[in-house]
Amino acid sequence: MADSTFGLVVHGGAGVILRQDLTLELEAEYHTQLEASLAAGYGVLEHGGASLEAVVAAIKVMEDSPLFNAGHGAVMNAEGVCELDASIMDGLTLDAGAVAGLQHIRNPIALARDVLERTPHVMLIGDGAEAFARQVGYEFVPNEYFQTERRRRQLALARELEAKPGGHRPAGRKERVTFATVDDNKFGTVGCAALDRKGNLAAGTSTGGMTNKQYGRVGDSPIIGAGTYARNATCALSATGHGEFFIRSVLGHNVSALMEYKGLPLAEAAGEALRQLEELGGTGGLVAIDRLGHVAMPFNTPGMYRGCRVAGQAPVVEIFGAEYRAQTIRS
Ligand code: ASP
Repeated sequence: MADSTFGLVVHGGAGVILRQDLTLELEAEYHTQLEASLAAGYGVLEHGGASLEAVVAAIKVMEDSPLFNAGHGAVMNAEGVCELDASIMDGLTLDAGAVAGLQHIRNPIALARDVLERTPHVMLIGDGAEAFARQVGYEFVPNEYFQTERRRRQLALARELEAKPGGHRPAGRKERVTFATVDDNKFGTVGCAALDRKGNLAAGTSTGGMTNKQYGRVGDSPIIGAGTYARNATCALSATGHGEFFIRSVLGHNVSALMEYKGLPLAEAAGEALRQLEELGGTGGLVAIDRLGHVAMPFNTPGMYRGCRVAGQAPVVEIFGAEYRAQTIRS
């Protein structure tokens, strides 16, 4: 197949991210890390590498940064432990790999890829996933490697707010909630969707889940068809937000199905799937790319750490929304 265009789109989580809450330094750091993630993935694609490879490269950069809720800097569960989830999908073969409830693997996205490539399964969890990691030679890190002071503070705050009678109403939400939506900035999951020169799509997502989540809780990020989906005929995407709603609305597959069965262009399909998620009461966003290199990055929260770089176009890195509503760009 002749070389086609190529590019990628990344996110570092959606949530109540307001300009007044970020110092200029912190804002600059987020930009730097998102740019580094884009550069790592773009470098792979530019040299003819596969989209799957680019997704792993881009996500590893964010897993290694304490800024994001994945790998080092992941949020903590109710026991004060980091439990990590990740998944990856190949849009050419529809092969997928996922891991959930990891406590000692530095780069969960790499293990998800090994599940895809080296096992006959799609998802491995907890001790079983870590036993597999040991078999294939992974280095183990103590759980403290993932934990940061910022996440400890967020956990303490979440516990305090959730203990209040009637829960807490985060900014911008209509109803009072008690489950871990109390930490308005908690969505810091990372993800990437990429298109390579051969026209193949891939997507991946990696996360610590949600602050103060129950031990054993698994969100949408490692669920194929919810937080991650890739299909060459339609699109590749990674989602971020309140995972339960993404699982219930099967958001990732819904975007693809809207493109395939209804013939909607990427941006419209992504917007419609997000609208349906919102109807259930869900918040968050997604980043997606199609086989022509069109990109969509809609979200229904005040901000989403996001960026894209498509061959022949200037890279984009953005944090805040123009306003508090779903928006799409560059479609
Ligand atoms: N979607 C993730 C989860 O529910 C959280 C996030 O996007 O930050 O586990």
